[in-house]
Amino acid sequence: MQYTTLNNGVKMPMVGFGVFQIPDQDQCQKVVEEAIKTGYRLIDTAEAYGNEEAVGKAIKASGVPREELFITTKVFIQHMSYEGTKEAFAESLKKLDLAYLDLYLLHQPVGDTFGAWRALEELYKEGKIRAIGVSNFKPDQIANLSLFNDITPAVNQVEVHVFNQKEEEKIYLTSKGIQMESWGAFAEGQFDIFNNPILTEIAAKYGKSTAQVMLRWQLQRGIVSLSKSANPERVRQNFDIFDFELSDEDMAKITTINTNTTVFADHHDAATVELLAGFVGKSF
Ligand code: NAP
Repeated sequence: MQYTTLNNGVKMPMVGFGVFQIPDQDQCQKVVEEAIKTGYRLIDTAEAYGNEEAVGKAIKASGVPREELFITTKVFIQHMSYEGTKEAFAESLKKLDLAYLDLYLLHQPVGDTFGAWRALEELYKEGKIRAIGVSNFKPDQIANLSLFNDITPAVNQVEVHVFNQKEEEKIYLTSKGIQMESWGAFAEGQFDIFNNPILTEIAAKYGKSTAQVMLRWQLQRGIVSLSKSANPERVRQNFDIFDFELSDEDMAKITTINTNTTVFADHHDAATVELLAGFVGKSF
């Protein structure tokens, strides 16, 4: 496993396993156990995923010492305030059955993010979270949050994959010492991503799958990647990316697939904010 060092000195694994859209508790527990057995040490969940208890059970069952694991969860919009975040944090910790978190993120740049951030800063200073960060924030939102609070986020977890490469955002984050972490490394399989001709040609050259090429490409860009699979064989396959290196030429070829647009939702679009707010009953 390769690690990155965050802006507060904490070491974070470069390759992680995500559990979005695995609502079945037994299946989630089994697949997280499989992931930890395979070698994953970073597990990414969220209160909104409804499976923190299953992740907690898998951690206990794995037998791997707590300090070897890097556990992330996130506070969602209904708790995006100072008090709400304090409550959500306590609830997440209880569900995960943990004494501390490695990384706690504001899930969306929506709601009272300043109040929520101050709660994270306090929890961090009390030693209950080893690193704090954000998700789906654009550079202007990161600048605003950082400049008007005490602590600069350690991580921004954002949509990054071959169709939405975000090189400029990566350069900005790096210049501020913030680690980029990608979600949706496979664009959730959209646009026949696993059969993309450029990726297929590169994968054949290295004797790897297109999924492995996409994850290796993230690693070589210095991005912490998250992928999800509920299939044990693919869980193992997605971790087997440390024994080959993409050439500069192949890295450059992959840049030609970039469309630089989201395949999910733009967090600068009012319609996205309205949609997210609608999940917690807010509307104009
Ligand atoms: P993803 O990893 O881009 O794609 C998952 C899809 O790819 C599933 O359909 C999976 O199917 C398939 N797949 C996985 N490995 C494969 C392989 N080797 N070959 C072929 N198909 C494969 O999607 P994601 O779950 O949305 O993103 C990953 C993680 O990022 C999430 O679990 C979550 O932790 C995080 N995330 C965060 C946010 C945020 O707002 N912060 C948003 C979305 C996701 P099978 O399960 O059948 O293998």
